[in-house]
Amino acid sequence: MRPVPEDGGAYGGSRPISEVEPSPFAFDGRGIEYAPMETLPGPAPEETRIQEAIAAEAEWIADLLSRLVRADTTLGNEEAGQRVVEAALREIGLDPVDVWMDAETLRAHPLASPFDWDVANKRNIVATWGPGRGNGGRSLILNGHIDVVSPEPLSRWGERSPFSGDREDGWIHGRGAADMKCGLAAILGTVKALHGLGLTPRAPVHIQSVVEEECTGNGTLQTLLAGFTADGAVVAEPFGAAITTAQVGVLWFKVRIEGVSGHAAEGSFTVNAIERSLHVIAALRELEAELNASPPHPFDLFSHPINLNVGAISGGDWASTVPGECITEYRIAMYPGMLLPDLRARIEAVVAAATSDMEGTAQVLYGGFACEGYDIADDAPLVRTLAEAFVRQEGTPPALVATTGTSDAGVFGRMGIPAVCFGPYAEEAHGIGERVYLPSVVQTAQVLGLFIREWCGLAE
Ligand SMILES: [Zn+2]
Repeated sequence: MRPVPEDGGAYGGSRPISEVEPSPFAFDGRGIEYAPMETLPGPAPEETRIQEAIAAEAEWIADLLSRLVRADTTLGNEEAGQRVVEAALREIGLDPVDVWMDAETLRAHPLASPFDWDVANKRNIVATWGPGRGNGGRSLILNGHIDVVSPEPLSRWGERSPFSGDREDGWIHGRGAADMKCGLAAILGTVKALHGLGLTPRAPVHIQSVVEEECTGNGTLQTLLAGFTADGAVVAEPFGAAITTAQVGVLWFKVRIEGVSGHAAEGSFTVNAIERSLHVIAALRELEAELNASPPHPFDLFSHPINLNVGAISGGDWASTVPGECITEYRIAMYPGMLLPDLRARIEAVVAAATSDMEGTAQVLYGGFACEGYDIADDAPLVRTLAEAFVRQEGTPPALVATTGTSDAGVFGRMGIPAVCFGPYAEEAHGIGERVYLPSVVQTAQVLGLFIREWCGLAE
């Protein structure tokens, strides 16, 4: 059985949705029916061998994860972590290749998110394992992202540095320990153990460490454009004892408000761009409320599935000058089935209406995430096969969950590759004190090992 951390958490099985939201890593307790426990076969001898071989890699996995966390891989700094992944893949005995980010290819692709930063000299890493003897296996992508979000505000981390990688009482701490270097470590641990047993998949398994999951999804897209496709993909995001079958889409946008600047003493002849931006924020909150009014299933299980985030604001430079410009950066979510052009049109209409009575322009600008939502059927072969592997490892079925965050599973889905997220148990992703429960990293690797045996087939 999967141990439960002392403070409870997502491993506790099904929990009422009200206890777990609004974390994007919450699971909603939607379950699927499995054969009663007493009729479930125990692991076959071959499976026990796999489970034990992966358990024997626990120290290797923990050490790798600590080293990954100690590499600061915030946007633009991903290479420090990619070097660690590349070395680990070579240690396993695989031959990783670089898939460089290519701005021109990405900008020409309809599913890429727009970006205004430099992506030159950024690489994704892909190592292909197999195929071995025999045919008939299904190919697979095991995917994790190396990039992490900023640990700001640094002053809140206290004694422990954000990139400590400290190991204490069964937890590994630091930015990225949860989201999602733990998943990368689990994937690499699985492959190391199976490879070490002399097993080879009957169809290719592509192991991917990608950049830019936290801002565009373009890293994973670039690997697919390079030809590394498969019959299914598992993104090892830390959802705990749960498999994601639905996720929202995410759109990033900025609103640039132009005011009429001037001396603060002549306020009646000026237009304050910062104060005008507050009107726009309020109007966008109304749009958010509209989107939350009647969510489609399974998002009706959340009381507030669509979240608008005011992520950054900048305007003005002097207490005695009326600010002439203010730029506010937003993130908003969208349900599967909703189209980006429709959401953009609604946002632009709201901004236009909220600023129609003012002098100066209001512009909506796009950059970063432009990803529609994604879902996969609960009984899709990928979901069933992974859930059954989970049952054989843990003895209980995983929850099938919807998430109010986005992930690279959506990139695969939109490119026609069935995909889910499944990974370790973690806490405070993107927050202060981010950490992952180490035994769950090993257990994730064990579930993945049993899943690969079933999905791909393994040859001696
Ligand atoms: Zn993530």
